[in-house]
Amino acid sequence: MTDDFRIRVYGHAWAQDLLRRALQHGATRHAYLFAGPEHIGKTTLARAFAQALTCENLAGEDGLGACGRCRSCRLAAEGMHPDHRLFAPAGNQLRIDQIREVVREAALSPVESRYKVFIITEFERANVNAANALLKTLEEPSATTRIILVSHQPSGLLDTIISRCQLLRMRPLPESEVVRALQERLGLEEPDARRLARLSNGRIGRAFSLAEDPESWQSYNQRIQEMQAILAYSPAQRIAYAQALEKHKQLEIILQEWLLWWRDVLVIQNRGQALIVNQDHLDALTDLARSIPGPQIRRFVDAIMTTAAYLRKNVNRQLAMEALLLKAPHRE
Ligand SMILES: [Zn+2]
Repeated sequence: MTDDFRIRVYGHAWAQDLLRRALQHGATRHAYLFAGPEHIGKTTLARAFAQALTCENLAGEDGLGACGRCRSCRLAAEGMHPDHRLFAPAGNQLRIDQIREVVREAALSPVESRYKVFIITEFERANVNAANALLKTLEEPSATTRIILVSHQPSGLLDTIISRCQLLRMRPLPESEVVRALQERLGLEEPDARRLARLSNGRIGRAFSLAEDPESWQSYNQRIQEMQAILAYSPAQRIAYAQALEKHKQLEIILQEWLLWWRDVLVIQNRGQALIVNQDHLDALTDLARSIPGPQIRRFVDAIMTTAAYLRKNVNRQLAMEALLLKAPHRE
């Protein structure tokens, strides 16, 4: 339907219900923090919430309740709404002048809607000064302002920020919901959708970019090539590679990719009927299944899982990655 401009949110039903009820009762809070892993749809939920906040005919029981037909809904979907502002880090940081811009504009009345809505993504990239600059606005907001902070590292935020927001902790989506979304939106066949869903581990944004963006698929394949190259590396080369990898923004995702890769090798070794995620690399997987003993692979799989758990606890990433790479199987 071309005349339905609702911003569609996949998954996170409880969060959508909670926000819709608050909208229906005119009881939305002035500040929210949407927290959870990367690429699970936090910013999409924030945009859909902004759309509903300014919808002219808020009524629906679907999603967040926006009508998807009014002028305001259309502008929101096109990213052109004059009362919606989206701030993202410029480079590596949310700069203090970006936050000052939010503060300044938050004090003004909306241009045409009930609310002015500010979405600030990757808020963990605001340094202490920038975060502090927002405190007063979070504390004494204008009645017509709504602020949505988005972060995948809420543990890095100031308590004074968190305590002034309603915190919504979001999780990766169940595989079945990612499959359904990929089929519904991109018309993928079930097996393709399932492989992408598994590869993306419930991170729906990543599933969409793997499906739609050739570059994202290319860089995935490149990382898989690199991981196979490691097997022939000397300890010194492995450590050097660990140091390079440690700086990678998406380390958690890389480890997940490795996990699925080696799980595929084990499936082949055991002649399992389970789904092979990396269908496109069947030859390489079969080759590894023949040349590396199962116990070695299982030890490495355990090490990957342990390392992923460590990384979530803010340990020394470099040491953790060095130790992991030294445990990777060897191959001449
Ligand atoms: Zn509307």
